[in-house]
Amino acid sequence: MLAWPPNIRIQTRIFGGLLLQETDICRYPESSIPMVAVIVVIDKHIGMQMNTDREQTARYTVVIIGAGTGGIAVAASLRRANPGLEIALIEPSDSHYYQPGWTLVGGGQYNINATRRDTASLLPPSTVLINGQATSFMPENKLVGLQDGRRIAYEVLIVAAGIQLNWNAIEGLSETLGHNGVTSNYRRDLAPYTWRCVNEFKGGTAIFTQPGTPIKCAGAPQKALYLSADYFRRQGIKAELYFYSAAGAVFGVPFYAKALDEVMAAYGANTVFNRELVAVDGPNKTATFEHKVDGETQREHVRFDLLHVVPPQGAPDFIRSSTLANEAGWLEVDAATLQHVRHANIFGIGDCTSAPNSKTAAAVKAQVPVVVKNVLSHLKAAPLQARYDGYAACPLTTSAGKVLLAEFSYGGVVTPSLPLDPRQPRRLYWSLKKTWLPYFYWHLLLKGRAVPAIQKKRDFPDQLPSIEP
Ligand SMILES: Cc1cc2nc3c(=O)[nH]c(=O)nc-3n(C[C@H](O)[C@H](O)[C@H](O)COP(=O)(O)OP(=O)(O)OC[C@H]3O[C@@H](n4cnc5c(N)ncnc54)[C@H](O)[C@@H]3O)c2cc1C
Repeated sequence: MLAWPPNIRIQTRIFGGLLLQETDICRYPESSIPMVAVIVVIDKHIGMQMNTDREQTARYTVVIIGAGTGGIAVAASLRRANPGLEIALIEPSDSHYYQPGWTLVGGGQYNINATRRDTASLLPPSTVLINGQATSFMPENKLVGLQDGRRIAYEVLIVAAGIQLNWNAIEGLSETLGHNGVTSNYRRDLAPYTWRCVNEFKGGTAIFTQPGTPIKCAGAPQKALYLSADYFRRQGIKAELYFYSAAGAVFGVPFYAKALDEVMAAYGANTVFNRELVAVDGPNKTATFEHKVDGETQREHVRFDLLHVVPPQGAPDFIRSSTLANEAGWLEVDAATLQHVRHANIFGIGDCTSAPNSKTAAAVKAQVPVVVKNVLSHLKAAPLQARYDGYAACPLTTSAGKVLLAEFSYGGVVTPSLPLDPRQPRRLYWSLKKTWLPYFYWHLLLKGRAVPAIQKKRDFPDQLPSIEP
């Protein structure tokens, strides 16, 4: 039996069944009952389909889970390549965020409001936004299940659900975030608090942490340190700076790590490796780290005045618990074609996949043409020809004014776009980060406009250039 008031879904179609718009109208107030009647009349005259059965399955040629960086970029690019394709995106959030901007916000260099847009405003033409959360996969039946019971059918599925931030994995963290000098640029509402903490810092111990799991933008934890350190230096504020990382080095690509060691040294920052943040006591301003000594876990309590935390991260639970995941929980795709290894009609893009690239928007940019070409080939039953080489980029803001632009591909191969030594922090790349990349993101990447890839493998002498952050 239907509940009253009912949940109603309206689909607007044009000739050939191309679905233009799907809108959920939930829990109509009784006062709007006449409006439902109006819609029924319109339905008879211009072909709107009204559906009161939540279990009925909507069908699309391409269904994309997630309207973040990868989801919108791939939808826009597919739309340009094939204007007739039926495309639907499943997304629970009304807001889309330009996450790379949050590092700059935390450094007092960017307006937080410029990092948000309405998700619906970014959709390419003639695509359907399904407001909902994917919770299950039924690959044998080509169906995705949503939290509210709806099922969405596809010919091709693209999973672009991003990475999950596991804030509760650190004891006491959630309770104190945004208070007691505990912050994180990994949450939009907290990036401005990072800047407040830095701006109001009167001296003392500032700790910046990085977890042992894969994270999005592996450089972001240290970017927060550099921008804070630069501000303290300019203001003449005395700070004891610590970078506590669960990794064994400051950066995963040794070529860049050597240069970044020099940046840390230039700020007099102490690097402490193989330490995992496990607990935070906000009121007592104490962080607890664990590390192994001869196989034994030891705990270390450290006092702080400012603590910037990057939480442990992993595959979204609904992927991890599905048959589409690899052992580590990621969507199991071929690292080159980005096609699922067991289901030929499923592809992955962005942070949620098992591809061993650095999880960045820059990687998404390089993955979009590969997924688009391979999806279109799959639909034509042609062999997949496009290959992703693992390209990713990390603009490390070594100060408010300079960036070390780390560009690399699978295996840590150094692949800069310009023939300049990429280990040197440059003003040119600061303008790129602050001005050009946001423009590129909103107006080119999310609009499906191709920008030629100019990165390539280049060789540089072993000796470091002079490094001034
Ligand atoms: C502080 C910070 C700094 C960064 N700096 C940089 C940088 O300088 N350069 C760079 O290249 N990258 C940077 N990144 C990383 C970059 O933002 C991400 O790698 C990129 O956005 C990944 O795109 P995505 O589509 O995989 O995930 P996202 O853009 O995160 O999108 C995932 C989408 O999936 C949706 N979703 C999740 N679960 C479900 C579900 N069950 N059903 C339906 N939808 C779902 C989410 O709501 C979200 O909209 C940074 C990130 C952060 C947090």
